[in-house]
Amino acid sequence: MENSEEQSRTKILDTFKHIVDSNRKFVLTTHVNPDGDGLGSELALTRYLKKLGKQSVVLNHSETPSNHTFLDYHNELKQFDPEKDSQTVLDADVLIALDMNNPGRLRSIEKYFLESKAKKVIIDHHLEAQDFVDHQLIDLDSPATAEMVYRCLAAYDSNLIDKEIAEGIYTGIMTDTGSFRFPRTDGEVHRITANLLDLGVDPFYIYHNLYEENSLGRTRLLGEMLSKVELAYDGRVSYVAITLEQLNRNGVVPDDVDNFVNQAGAIAGVIVTLFFLEMEDGVKISFRSKGDVPVNELAKMYGGGGHKNASGARLPGVKLDETVRRVLADAERILPK
Ligand code: 5GP
Ligand code: MN
Repeated sequence: MENSEEQSRTKILDTFKHIVDSNRKFVLTTHVNPDGDGLGSELALTRYLKKLGKQSVVLNHSETPSNHTFLDYHNELKQFDPEKDSQTVLDADVLIALDMNNPGRLRSIEKYFLESKAKKVIIDHHLEAQDFVDHQLIDLDSPATAEMVYRCLAAYDSNLIDKEIAEGIYTGIMTDTGSFRFPRTDGEVHRITANLLDLGVDPFYIYHNLYEENSLGRTRLLGEMLSKVELAYDGRVSYVAITLEQLNRNGVVPDDVDNFVNQAGAIAGVIVTLFFLEMEDGVKISFRSKGDVPVNELAKMYGGGGHKNASGARLPGVKLDETVRRVLADAERILPK
């Protein structure tokens, strides 16, 4: 097991080096509603590629969520505009999709990504990749795409990793490990993190900007949500929904409620949490579990995916109340007997 894991990691590093060495024009992207791992990985990789003298552009379907803009002090994260940017995607030598494995999550970029003659690559740590690229650099044991990016950059030339690159990597690792507490947070993660701190990353600064600069509306909405959490299945499942009316009344955008699901699950005895967010065009569901409960199986039933303990799905055109009832009923299937 250890051997095969090592071999595949070596193969990832070799493939990465080969792709970088044999190409010049790179376009990086990540999934819709990007998170710290997708954005941090993009920033780290684009900064590194530029140091190597490569041309590198980051194009995302979504605007950068406001709590992540502090990381983008060189304005490197661009929201994709088909009129201006489609040619860049079509003309690239290499397209790298980070922290995602399903072309549908590229949204407005998908069409151009698939049409482009560029070599296509994913760097990712999620289960069940779809087959849409030339090179799948996938490490299911990695706690964050940013950790994979670190390994690639360190193997290529660790001397080129500077503070600005380290900040992107640190952000990805910190956010995807739930601030260094999720199960895949092992000694190796901390050894890598130690290197990042040695390069000048300030943990307080990153955490504070991401999690402690919320709007009053978000804080009040969190309070509303917490007061409405319900339990089911003998207290093993917690669930709660946020409506569009609540978002609008509090002046909160969907990106701002990113961590609410974890708060709704921080209850003794709860092993599964379902968080429903009403959107203009349907419902987004976040699934979380503790221990050996595969919420990705539940997410898959609704066209979503993710990890065993953290998954998501987007259901276009459905009604909130009905969706809550259906998913709650289906949750029984993944609960331990
Ligand atoms: P979150 O609930 O925080 O949006 O997502 C939790 C995990 O599920 C993340 O790792 C994310 O990549 C994955 N995920 C979220 N939404 C979707 C989705 O619509 N489709 C798929 N395949 N994965 C998702
Ligand atoms: Mn990730």
